[in-house]
Amino acid sequence: MKNRFRILAIMLIMIILTAAGRKEQKPLNLIIFIGDGMGTDQVYAGMTASGFNMTFPAFPVTGFSITYSANRYITDSAAGGTAISTGEKTNNGMIAVRPDSTEIPTIFEIARKAGLSTGAVSTSTITHATPASFIAHDASRGSYEEIAKWFLKGNADVFIGGGINHFSARSDSADLTVDLKKMGYDVVYNLPDLKNSRSSRIAGLMAEEGLPYIDEGRDPDFLAAATAKALEVLSQNKKGFVLMVEGSQIDWAAHDNNMKRTVEEVLDLDRAVKIAYDFARKSGNTLIVVTADHETGGLSLTGGSIEEKTVSGTFGTKGHSAVMVPVFAYGPGASSFSGVQDNTDLFHDFMKLLSLKK
Ligand code: MG
Ligand code: ZN
Repeated sequence: MKNRFRILAIMLIMIILTAAGRKEQKPLNLIIFIGDGMGTDQVYAGMTASGFNMTFPAFPVTGFSITYSANRYITDSAAGGTAISTGEKTNNGMIAVRPDSTEIPTIFEIARKAGLSTGAVSTSTITHATPASFIAHDASRGSYEEIAKWFLKGNADVFIGGGINHFSARSDSADLTVDLKKMGYDVVYNLPDLKNSRSSRIAGLMAEEGLPYIDEGRDPDFLAAATAKALEVLSQNKKGFVLMVEGSQIDWAAHDNNMKRTVEEVLDLDRAVKIAYDFARKSGNTLIVVTADHETGGLSLTGGSIEEKTVSGTFGTKGHSAVMVPVFAYGPGASSFSGVQDNTDLFHDFMKLLSLKK
C-alpha cells in the first residue's frame, strides 16, 4: 500500500515537471531595437546592399505591427514610441501621456520598480520622441528642456545619445549634468571616454543636438559601441534589464528621400543588433525584438541588382506612411511576436514575458 502511494506520488511529480518543461522559457533581459521609420522596403534595401549579410532579418520569428495612433491614421514617433513603451495609443506629438495628458507608466518605470536596470541608446538627441517615450512624460514632444529634467528621476541607468544643449545650455541656465553627477552618473562626451567608463550609471551626451550622419562625421562604430557599453553595465544586474536602442536617422534620411543614407542607417542599426545578438546567444536568457515606430518616405524599391548589391527606389512622401512595419524577434519568448499585432501589443507581450505588473 505504502509502495503504491510512492509510485503515484512519483508519477504525479513527473507529470507536473513535464508540464512545466513545456512552458516556454521566459527571458530575464529585454533588448528593444527601434528603427525609426524602418519599413520592409528599408530593411530589404539594407539586405540587398549587404549581400544578404544582415543579422536581424535572419531572426527566427517575424511579424508585423499596426501603427496608427489615437488621433491619426499615420502616427508620429511620439505616439508610436508611446504605444511600444506604455501599451496605450495616444495622440501624435505626445510622450507617454494619454490624450487627456495624464501620465502612463512606461516599461522603464515599471521595470525599475521591479528591480531591473534600464537603458536607452539613440543617434538622435536622447530627449527626442523615441527615447523620451520610455523615460519622460510630456504632452508635447518638442519640450526638450522639460523632457531632459525627467532624466533626473533616474528612469534610465544608462543613456547615450545627443542633446548636450537640453541638459547644459538651457533657457533656465540650469546645468542638469551637475545633478546627474550627484546621482552617481559618469557624464561622458565622446566615444573613448564612454568606452573607458567603469561607472554603473552613465550619461553619454555625444553631441550638442542629434548626432551627425555617418557621411558627415558620426563614427560608424558609435551605435554598436554604445550598445556594447550599455549591455556591459546593465547586465551586472542579476534581476535583469530592459534596453532600448534606436536607429533614429533611418527616419531622417527617408524624410530627405535620401536612398544612400537610408541604407547606411539601416546597416548601422544592424551593427548594433549584431552586438546584442552575440550577447543574447551567450546569455541564453535575453529576448531581442527589432521593430519600427512607423515607416517613413513611402519607400518603394523599383530597381536594383543582387550581384552589384545596389538598390534604387522611389519615395512616395516626405513624411510618414500608414503601412504595417516589420517585427523580428530572437530568444526566449520570441514566438509571441509572430503574426500581425497592434503596436500596443508589443508592450503587453514584454510585460507578460518579463513577469512585470503595472
Ligand atoms: Mg526617433
Ligand atoms: Zn519622422
